[in-house]
Amino acid sequence: MTQSFKARPSIARMRGYVPGEQPRGGKFIKLNTNENPYPPSPAAIRAIEAAATQGLQRYPDPLATVFRERAADVFGIDPDWILCGNGSDDLLTIVTRTFVGEGECLRYPRPSYVLYSTLAEIQGAAAESVDFRPDWTLSPEFSSSSDNLRLGFLANPNSPSGTCLSPEEVLRLAERLPCPLLVDEAYVDFAETNCLDLVRQNERIMVSRSLSKSYALAGLRFGFLVAQPQVIVELSKVKDSYNCDALSIAGATAAIGDQAWLAENRRKILHTRSRLAEKLGSFGFQVTDSQANFVWATHDTASAHTLYERLKEKHILVRYMSYTGWQEGLRVSVGTDEQIDAFLHILQSLLPAT
Ligand SMILES: *Cc1c(COP(=O)(O)O)cnc(C)c1O
Repeated sequence: MTQSFKARPSIARMRGYVPGEQPRGGKFIKLNTNENPYPPSPAAIRAIEAAATQGLQRYPDPLATVFRERAADVFGIDPDWILCGNGSDDLLTIVTRTFVGEGECLRYPRPSYVLYSTLAEIQGAAAESVDFRPDWTLSPEFSSSSDNLRLGFLANPNSPSGTCLSPEEVLRLAERLPCPLLVDEAYVDFAETNCLDLVRQNERIMVSRSLSKSYALAGLRFGFLVAQPQVIVELSKVKDSYNCDALSIAGATAAIGDQAWLAENRRKILHTRSRLAEKLGSFGFQVTDSQANFVWATHDTASAHTLYERLKEKHILVRYMSYTGWQEGLRVSVGTDEQIDAFLHILQSLLPAT
């Protein structure tokens, strides 16, 4: 007789995180997953090629020491304040597994990155969301104590809104919160401020960064987290021994060392972002003040879902999002000027003439 398999109840019950569409066939203008439209630093490609021709028969350095040393230089901190991950999603998983056990609870703002609640579900933990105010600030309720609360997540800049809380505000929230706070800075290289300095002021504040968006290395999978060394020690016990491979360590180290490439890329994206936001505004959309490489656009009369589908028929992919109690909208990644012009041209033809 065959025995049927049985996943843990918390796994069987969950739906699983669904990432943005990655079409395989056809030619799409992809403005749906916040990838960088430009290629990464040539130094990163060269480093990956060099790493591929030497020593792949050996395991990589479990701590990605060369990356930590280079990043420590760039940010003016010590290498033992840095933990590397297989993308920053890996770091979010490590943090959740370190702090949140079965039956315990984590908190995050809503609408925000949907993965946070998925991570709680995998742990068999509860996920408690606190709604942003209509102006995308957070009420003190985010910091209120609650039984079994073990971890807070805060995407800053936030997705899908692109809005950013000031470091002073984040510190205020973190200091009242009865548990550690992970500030997810996946988009921070496109913002005006960041929370790296807060890590020094409070051992319960951790900051995660990604090389996927601002360094144009989404396909490589590399992220890093900054926290006080005694926190890094605990997190390191939870990670896979070899969570970053030799190619990604080499590429990420070269990329973080090429800050001139980052500055030039940022300049181009910010320029296109303001053009995109302005045009959408002139089409009758409400557009939040984005500090990221995407904009969040809502419309009072045109249906965001219909626009999403019509755009897709024309081979333009944007992210349609709806959250109960919030106006549905479109999250549009900042592409090249040519991609954004093509998007705006088609979008305008889909809107009723005003
Ligand atoms: C894209 C994204 C990440 C994940 O980045 P990876 O480094 O590619 O894993 C984390 N948080 C937010 C809010 C993101 O949008």
